[in-house]
Order: sequence, then C-alpha cells, then structure tokens
Amino acid sequence: MSSVKTILPPAMLGMLGGGQLGRFFVIAAHEMGYKVAVLDPDRNSPAGKIADVHLCAAYDDETALQSLAEQCAAITTEFENVPASTLEFLAQHRTVRPAAASVAIAQNRVAEKNFFRDSGFPVAPYAVIEQAIDIPAADSGLYPAILKVARFGYDGKGQARVATPEEASAAFEKFGAEVCVLERMLRLDYEVSVVLARDADGNVETFPAAENSHLNGILDVSIAPARGDAAIREQARQLAVDVAQKLNYTGVLGVEFFVSQGRLLVNEMAPRPHNSGHYTIDACVTSQFEQQVRVLAGLPLGDARQHSPAVMVNLLGDIWSRGEPSWDAAYAEPGLKMHLYGKHEARPGRKMGHFTVVGDKADQTLQGALKVRHLLG
Ligand code: ADP
Ligand code: MG
Repeated sequence: MSSVKTILPPAMLGMLGGGQLGRFFVIAAHEMGYKVAVLDPDRNSPAGKIADVHLCAAYDDETALQSLAEQCAAITTEFENVPASTLEFLAQHRTVRPAAASVAIAQNRVAEKNFFRDSGFPVAPYAVIEQAIDIPAADSGLYPAILKVARFGYDGKGQARVATPEEASAAFEKFGAEVCVLERMLRLDYEVSVVLARDADGNVETFPAAENSHLNGILDVSIAPARGDAAIREQARQLAVDVAQKLNYTGVLGVEFFVSQGRLLVNEMAPRPHNSGHYTIDACVTSQFEQQVRVLAGLPLGDARQHSPAVMVNLLGDIWSRGEPSWDAAYAEPGLKMHLYGKHEARPGRKMGHFTVVGDKADQTLQGALKVRHLLG
C-alpha cells in the first residue's frame, strides 16, 4: 500500500510554467480527467492557452502563488528555473513535486556537477570559475574546453568553446563575470538520455534510452531506443536510477549522458520531462507527461514500455523563414505524428513543435523521419 494520499479527478493540478512541456502536461491531465491551473507571465503561453485556469503573473507573485495553492491539490513545474522560494512557499500549503531541493541542484550547473562528482557518478573533468583569477589557476589539461554559465543556460545558450585560458577569460567577461563551469571538450561518440519517473514510495519506471543529436547546441533528432552497445543503454538506465535515488527524487527526471571513447559520463539533468522523451507520447504505453501527472497525483506509475521504434525531430522557428512549411508533404509519411505548440512567433532557434515517426522497423522509421525533416527544412 502506498503511503501517499491519492488525488483523483476532477481535482485541479498546478503547473509552474506555460511552455510546450507544460502544454503536454495539460493535455495528459485533461485526458485523465483532471483540471489544470498554469502560472506563466506570458499571456500567449502554449500551456496557459489550453489550461482551465491561466494565472498570468510572475513566478514570485505572492497573490498568484496564493491563488495557485488555494485552487490546486498538488503542484509541479515544467522548467528548472523557478525560484526556490516559490517552491518552498507552495510546499508549505500543498504537495509540490519535485522537491525544491532537487530543483535547486538541477538549476545550478555548479551544484549539479558537484553533486554528480561527490556522489561518485562519472563526469567530464571540470573546474568551477567564480572569478576571473580562477581561470589561470585551473588545470591546463581542461583545454580545449567549454565555458558554461552556472545559471539560466539552455539549448547551448550561455556556452562558449574556448581553446586557451585567454579565450576563456574573454568569454567569462562576455558572460558578465557570472559563476561558470569550465569543462573539458570531449570527443563524443554519441549522446544518450534516460527519462524516468520515481514516485513518493521510491518506485521507478524508466523509459528506454534515446540517442540524441544536437545542432548548434539544440536537440535536433532523438532515436529511441538508442542504437549501439546494449551495455551502454543498461548502464545509462542504472545511472539515471541511481541519480534519482541519491536525490530521493519524486517526479519525472531526465538525465543526459555523453558517450566518449566508449565510456559513459553524466552530462546534466532536468527535474521535469525532457525534450528527448517526447517520443514516449507516441511510442510508449505511458508518456512521460502521463507519468508526471501520475506521480503528482499519487497514482501508481504507468507501464513505460516502448511498443514501437520511434524517431523524434524538433521543429525550430528557422523552417518558417520562407513561410509555412510543406505540411502536406510531411503528412504523406504514414507513421508521422505531428505536434505543434501553438506559438505565435517563429523565431530562429525557437522550438515550435516536433514530430515523431513510429513504425515496425527502426531503420525505416529513421529513414522516414529524415525524409520528412528534409522536406520541412
Ligand atoms: P544545455 O543542454 O543546457 O544547453 P549541455 O551542457 O547539455 O547544455 O550542452 C549542450 C550540448 O553541447 C550537449 O548536448 C553536447 O552536444 C554539447 N556539449 C556540452 N558539453 C560538452 C562537452 N564537455 N564536450 C563535448 N560536447 C559538449
Ligand atoms: Mg543539455
């Protein structure tokens, strides 16, 4: 028997953030019979537009947080940069998952890297840069390196590739002398990620590892399950479970890995569903978003089994540069599942949607997805 009180439909669930991840949460919650209140300052946020209640306010707006706590039985987040004080405030009144302490680690690269290293998880060699003089003092063996800001970096933003301490110092100044991590640039064989759900009783369901390729620091294509060595997939799964256990994590967690010279290294984690887990919507018994609803509501975790090979492709604003993409050509692919996020403005680099191609055979699925990507690109 679970020790956790179950929240049943038609209760209202709360979501901090109104982006596409929040929107998929709203869709999953609606399908399951729940209502959702979304807090997001953007009037046109993708999740806010389809939620039962949209609190259009800042993440530290006390009146809005009060209202969220009053209306919702439990509250979760779709992004890691919610102020810790917001989660702590809400947790005084309602169940909040994941816990503020887990989010605090995931939202700061220094805390995150130190947590991985101190817990014995393999990571790329790095140094913490708090001030300019930390750069000449850092191990010269780290170069060529990547300098990454500790806070608010995403999709490769707040990152600079640096070949020398001089370049690192210039990049550090360019980032406004914010605390950074200086990390060795690895030669990557490939990248994988594992999304899992862990409930309040410690039960875990892991989705199959996805193989990810990035373009300009932004996820481009995810192949699920990941190809290559089965031992790597199993090791990634186990490491992701260990990370969740070590955090005593409750919620959906995405863990990114590098495979470099045959070795698996932990890159970073996200205390929420992950872009590379979007394939689960169309190719798994339970999606990562349904798992997020289940954990939040205290329901048993769903079966994370993947029933079909799948390839997911992100659609960035760039492909709108010459008008609406050729949707009719895309829909000619029979296994294609299209997901557009309802964002008004298509800016370069902005995630506007994604599609997943599912099929019987992994290689045909990949060919189909790449064909559609080419047609839309
Ligand atoms: P974020 O996803 O928050 O932008 P990441 O640290 O995951 O930041 O970096 C984005 C991408 O940049 C990675 O998925 C990987 O492709 C590349 N990258 C990041 N760090 C390294 C590294 N140390 N060596 C090689 N490639 C890296
Ligand atoms: Mg990343």
